[in-house]
Amino acid sequence: IVIAKHIHKSFGDNEVLKDVSLSVHSGEVVVMIGPSGSGKSTFLRTLNGLETIDKGQVMVNGQLLYDKKVNLNQVRQNIGMVFQHFNLFPNMTILNNVIMAAISTKHFTPEKARQEAKKYLDMVDLSEKMNSYPAQLSGGQKQRVAIARALEMEPKIMLFDEPTSALDPEMVGDVLEVMQQLAQNGMTMIIVTHEMGFAKRVADRVVFFSDGMIQESGTPEEVFDRPASPRTQGFLERVL
Ligand code: ATP
Ligand code: MG
Repeated sequence: IVIAKHIHKSFGDNEVLKDVSLSVHSGEVVVMIGPSGSGKSTFLRTLNGLETIDKGQVMVNGQLLYDKKVNLNQVRQNIGMVFQHFNLFPNMTILNNVIMAAISTKHFTPEKARQEAKKYLDMVDLSEKMNSYPAQLSGGQKQRVAIARALEMEPKIMLFDEPTSALDPEMVGDVLEVMQQLAQNGMTMIIVTHEMGFAKRVADRVVFFSDGMIQESGTPEEVFDRPASPRTQGFLERVL
């Protein structure tokens, strides 16, 4: 469902992605780990057409992203993205935050949008906060709203870029639990995270990124218990 081939990307003379290729099939959960500055966020953004690339190809859901003919807005409707910072609209209720984008881009009727939003808010265990405002919610709750908002767009793929790293430790578990539930429901997910326990539990595949390259990729057991590359070993020794 996602095929990235030979991606090259530089910022000035800083080569950030050096021939990165990754294919993810439908329903697969891929967790990307690796040191700060290794290019994880940049790579994730190329999968959503948020970065330009110098070389390579990205195909999402059968559509080439870096192609003159592509309608990026249409491609992006299939891709939900959740960032470290959730960017909710402070002057809108939780319910309205969730339905806003879907009404304008998916042309849901307000009634259908509300019905769907309630379903997703229920899933992230926040239906009782529907009429609250973002300022009245904790960080973990806000991130769960951001996930509900992404799901409201009915994406085929969800990209997560360190969704829990801005949260207080006691909030992290609830957000990871929602993500685990999504994975169990068959959502295709690509997740950048430093939560190694989550990666072990939930990932079908772990990809270790370093220095703009995929150094190693395999099942959680392969990567965590029997890392082949010295770089992976060094990284894991530092974080585990
Ligand atoms: P972290 O774990 O800290 O989030 P990361 O693996 O996500 O790191 P990236 O954010 O992809 O790393 O950054 C990779 C490299 O690209 C870094 O050297 C960074 O300084 C550089 N970079 C990222 N975005 C830009 C930009 N818009 N302009 C210039 N350089 C950038
Ligand atoms: Mg990053």
